[in-house]
Amino acid sequence: MRVCVLGISAGGGVPQWNCRCENCRDVRSRGERFHQSHASIAVSGSGRSWCLINSTPDITNQIERFKSLHPRTGMRSSPITSVFLTDGELDHTLGLLLLRQGARLDVYATGVVVDILSKDFPVRRLVNSYADHRWKKLVGGQQIHLEREGLKISVISAGTKLPRYVQGQKSAIDATVAYYIEDLRSASSLFYAPSLQEWTDTIDAAAKKATCVMVDGTFWSDDELISYGIADLKAKDMGHLPLDGKDGILSKLANSTAPGKYLVHVNNTNRVLRSSSVERKMLLDQQISLAPERNEIII
Ligand SMILES: [Zn+2]
Repeated sequence: MRVCVLGISAGGGVPQWNCRCENCRDVRSRGERFHQSHASIAVSGSGRSWCLINSTPDITNQIERFKSLHPRTGMRSSPITSVFLTDGELDHTLGLLLLRQGARLDVYATGVVVDILSKDFPVRRLVNSYADHRWKKLVGGQQIHLEREGLKISVISAGTKLPRYVQGQKSAIDATVAYYIEDLRSASSLFYAPSLQEWTDTIDAAAKKATCVMVDGTFWSDDELISYGIADLKAKDMGHLPLDGKDGILSKLANSTAPGKYLVHVNNTNRVLRSSSVERKMLLDQQISLAPERNEIII
């Protein structure tokens, strides 16, 4: 299975336009090729057709970084045939507005996410005025076979928190999902979970049997944003289990024997971004890395 790591950042990227935290200042001083963009991957078993997991505000630049995602035939075409959304968050869906130039994509999301993208943030209607995207509703537990891409994708429930822009309702079943992606022709598999609000038995099983895991690295600690004085919300209030702590994601990953263990969706405040930090050393001690943005990995 081929996986293009398009980006690894949580909301705002690194540097974030209005932030001068330690991480943002460091990356800003090192230049543009060290910038980190919003979390997304493109994945393929066949190498002929690709599916995106989420579509970020950085999507067009992210596609240009990978030759395998460039158009190959005729005047207008794309090897990208589908987009799977993990949720309706703006950082994972704004890029759909940028993929409207006559393309024909299959857009997969759970029913509740399709609904909020039809009403609260009506990207479905906006984009379909320009492009003939086909929207397909998923449910937790479902499996989708993508023959052209050579993949089987299983939908795994990962949280109930709805985006902040949704009026009224705050939670719904399958507001957030993760994907367990299997190569149809090899035994390799990827568990991709950029937002994990809970660590269920199903998630635990997927993280244990996958060849490669890429999981929620948004926050190191539950009170990270509070400690910087930039928000009054805890990580869990924002739909993310923190990495550290007794029930943190690092303790859960200790049970995974996956040869590849990566963090994605890392917030710009997270000290794991600093190569000299204690937090980064704790990752390395568990053989966990930051997913390599701008690189394709074979699993
Ligand atoms: Zn920052």
